[in-house]
Amino acid sequence: MAPHHTTHDSHARNIETVAYVVEHAGADFALQNIVLDGPQGNEYLIEMKYTGICHTDLICQTGSAPSLQFPAILGHEGAGYIRAIGDGVQRTDIEVGEFVLLSFNFCGECKRCRRHQPATCLDGGKLHIGAVRANGGPPPARLKDGRSVQSSFFGQSSFAAMSVVDATCVAMRYPYDPEDAAIFAACGCGFQTGAGTVLNVLKPQQDDSIVVFGLGGVGLTALMAAKYLGLHHIIAVDINPGRLELAKELGATHALNSKDVEDMVTALREISDGGVDFAIDCVGEYARQRMHACRIREAD
Ligand SMILES: [Zn+2]
Ligand SMILES: [Zn+2]
Repeated sequence: MAPHHTTHDSHARNIETVAYVVEHAGADFALQNIVLDGPQGNEYLIEMKYTGICHTDLICQTGSAPSLQFPAILGHEGAGYIRAIGDGVQRTDIEVGEFVLLSFNFCGECKRCRRHQPATCLDGGKLHIGAVRANGGPPPARLKDGRSVQSSFFGQSSFAAMSVVDATCVAMRYPYDPEDAAIFAACGCGFQTGAGTVLNVLKPQQDDSIVVFGLGGVGLTALMAAKYLGLHHIIAVDINPGRLELAKELGATHALNSKDVEDMVTALREISDGGVDFAIDCVGEYARQRMHACRIREAD
């Protein structure tokens, strides 16, 4: 798509759109009409085309995150078109009409952000699950009856047709056909969690071995990062045969169905010549117990 002219439009008001609203802790995602203010300051108005869904969305839906108020619009793996630009946005390389991939927002000022570690931004608690708007203003969305809705979840609240998004969420302009971009929405959280854990935290050598428990978006991208680094032993564990086949296609050297393996510890030790060097738990407590049993290094 040819980019439109950049417009700095912070005066748009009462934009009528729809979003999946969670009315109270434990309520379903319900499609509702909402009204949005336009972007203010360092924000964009974005028309969402795709969004991933992450376990964090589901955990927050249940009300397990005390810092999140309801009603709320969740979602933090959005991708869509820039429709308006707030008058405080500094970057000039992204114009109205362009298609962008989103990730979490960050304060940009704390010591972690200054060290280029925005994933551990000291304001992350309130900016992400707390859904506090970075400029301190009221939530940008409200329901038809006038009640305001928490709508800055991770800076983007992507479960909406249109959303006001913090400018720091915009990770990149997508350079290809947006019709093909659906898979990349999950780069905003899941993919970078899996791949980043391997590339930036574990940093294994080629002769190290790694096991990945759980082959969802996080696990499979961890596995792909291990393949990218050329590890000789990449072990994938799941209970879904289709996932195990996919893992082999993506580079797993061994795929174990934990329903069929009686003694996982022994199996892992045999494959890895005495014990794996790294283990990634993308399942939960069940796998964590196994890691303790293996006496292998735990990464969080
Ligand atoms: Zn997430
Ligand atoms: Zn920060």
